[in-house]
Amino acid sequence: MFDSLSDRLGGVFDKLRGRGALKEQDVRDAMREVRIALLEADVALPVVRRFVDQVTEKAVGQSVLRSVTPGQQVVKIVNDALVEMLGGEDTPGLDLNAAPPVVIMMVGLQGSGKTTSTAKLARLLKEKEGKKAMMASLDVNRPAAQEQLKVLGEQVGVATLPIIPGQQPTEIATRALQAARLQAVDVLLLDTAGRLHVDQQLMDEMKAVAAISAPRETLLVVDSLTGQDAVNVAQSFSGQVDLTGVILTRMDGDARGGAALSMRAVTGKPIKFAGTGEKLDAIEVFHPSRVANRILG
Ligand code: GDP
Repeated sequence: MFDSLSDRLGGVFDKLRGRGALKEQDVRDAMREVRIALLEADVALPVVRRFVDQVTEKAVGQSVLRSVTPGQQVVKIVNDALVEMLGGEDTPGLDLNAAPPVVIMMVGLQGSGKTTSTAKLARLLKEKEGKKAMMASLDVNRPAAQEQLKVLGEQVGVATLPIIPGQQPTEIATRALQAARLQAVDVLLLDTAGRLHVDQQLMDEMKAVAAISAPRETLLVVDSLTGQDAVNVAQSFSGQVDLTGVILTRMDGDARGGAALSMRAVTGKPIKFAGTGEKLDAIEVFHPSRVANRILG
């Protein structure tokens, strides 16, 4: 995760730290390299520009350049700006403050890792939060989708809504809410249909399900390996539904990290979780400060 960016930035900052005194030009040279490193990591251009401008403005200040450890101060400024770029100090976590069953609606394109992430979250809620969870697949387009969620549910020990062939997504959502109420479920996860592209029929279906189920969280699942496309998908979805957060999957295979670094700044939506593998326990709460630490080594 972030390997190449981390290596690049490490090189830049080792040079800076190694010098006792710093001139404004040294900082500007270093920031030029930071700019290239971020662009190579596939961070969106406006985000890179803003980042470099902000850091440069702070770092060329006299109090930094005249301090005893200017190199370290510059690195600290970069670190703080990275944390900000990744979403700020706070880790938002899941908002479950509503009358049960609290609904979490999962949305995203097909293949993004949505169904796997639904099961991962259900497992997390059960194991770490002691919640009674239930899952329901509303994907009636892909014949195997509902069956897939059932199998994953069995693996994580979380109930899934029994499958009734022929029902429409809104009917399944209504039935899921009824079942969750009857069974005193704390959190109901609705796995909506994924499509190959962002299309209006998918969006309308999603809105209809949201209107019925009043989700407390609407989480978009996107594949970090798709880089800027992941950010574009997030923008398309957030124009249609009220997204409360993003789950970025396949972070385990993402050496560049552009989606993670651009998501918050471009879409304004927090990354709440990172998928880090195929196994059902491979999910992490996304902590911007820890991720920044990882990048800066
Ligand atoms: P969906 O079509 O969006 O529901 O996607 P699936 O949940 O079926 O996932 C598609 C594939 O991606 C599966 O083989 C998953 O095991 C895999 N996958 C999902 N999340 C991750 C992740 O965080 N890391 C890795 N390496 N694989 C993942």
